[in-house]
Amino acid sequence: MHENDKNTLIDRFNRKVDYLRISVTDRCDFRCVYCMAEEMSFVPRAEILTLEELTLVCQAFTELGVRKIRLTGGEPLIRSNLPSLIRNISTLPGLEELAMTTNGSRLVRFGEELYQAGLQRINVSLDSLNPARFKKITRTGNLQDVLNGIDAAKAAGFNNLKINSVILKGRNDDEILDLADYACRNELDLTFIEEMPLGQIDEHERSECFISSAEIRDRLATCYPLTPSSASSGGPSRYYNVKGTKSRFGFISPHSDNFCSACNRVRVTAEGMLLLCLGNENSVDLKAIVRKHPGDVTVLKGAIFAAMALKPEKHYFDLDEAPQIVRFMNMTGG
Ligand code: SAM
Ligand code: SF4
Repeated sequence: MHENDKNTLIDRFNRKVDYLRISVTDRCDFRCVYCMAEEMSFVPRAEILTLEELTLVCQAFTELGVRKIRLTGGEPLIRSNLPSLIRNISTLPGLEELAMTTNGSRLVRFGEELYQAGLQRINVSLDSLNPARFKKITRTGNLQDVLNGIDAAKAAGFNNLKINSVILKGRNDDEILDLADYACRNELDLTFIEEMPLGQIDEHERSECFISSAEIRDRLATCYPLTPSSASSGGPSRYYNVKGTKSRFGFISPHSDNFCSACNRVRVTAEGMLLLCLGNENSVDLKAIVRKHPGDVTVLKGAIFAAMALKPEKHYFDLDEAPQIVRFMNMTGG
């Protein structure tokens, strides 16, 4: 049993919440086919949490026992003054890890500054090593910018980079081994993600593109000896060591391997909605609280503490039905 005092976040299922993923913008320079529609409307800037509000929210969570914060989006590096936000958050007492998920397109420009500001880990999304296909999947992205960004981040001091790849059958599943080879050659961890039905897209049929983590693992196992790793990133990934390399392969399997029983995380959208689960609409409007009580961390902590009663036991995703979650992933913060 967890001790349930007012400074620890415990939900109704006795899960301790110590990991916050916070979206710093819903905007992005890419339009990945599984994440966004081609034409997107974004939240008006006045509705997005300011840097001061983001800092206050992070302070409230760390005072409630959150030990890991991941900045995400949209594309976090689109947000101006991100390094100054990182400087504010990275020194919050109790925080053990500050991470960011990015599409990598701006890492050449910002890698060094992010490292100096106190960012500790970076995950870069990379679904293809073929420039034409990369452009097709991201609609606007340039593969070489991202590969250069990964190199720049390593050179800046991020020596624990991880790659995230969403694999879609018939689109990039023939690159599973190429992505694995790239990760091993560059001593990077690589996590394969099953596509989730977040938001209405018409570019492809999600159910037809589904490929399970088990199938990906089987294909990898034809070339790489894999042994289950006991390591955890504090997230939903299950890891395997890859014999003879410094890399690990991870799998995030929201469909084929429900990871909810060990869920330790919540999300805050760019608009300041606290989401208790990626696959569920339960939420609390933290922006309304922060704007009604500016600078008041105590009121904010009370609202976050109370919100734990709304965290559902598990998510339900069904690829054959219309999405029950109308939010796109860029809103949610992946
Ligand atoms: N723009 C950054 C990036 O792409 O890394 C951060 C935000 S993005 C929403 C975070 C992660 O969510 C990315 O790794 C992306 O591939 C993943 N993602 C987006 N839409 C998804 C979906 N429908 N199913 C599964 N993963 C998705
Ligand atoms: Fe942008 Fe990331 Fe969504 Fe791609 S996955 S559109 S890079 S937010």
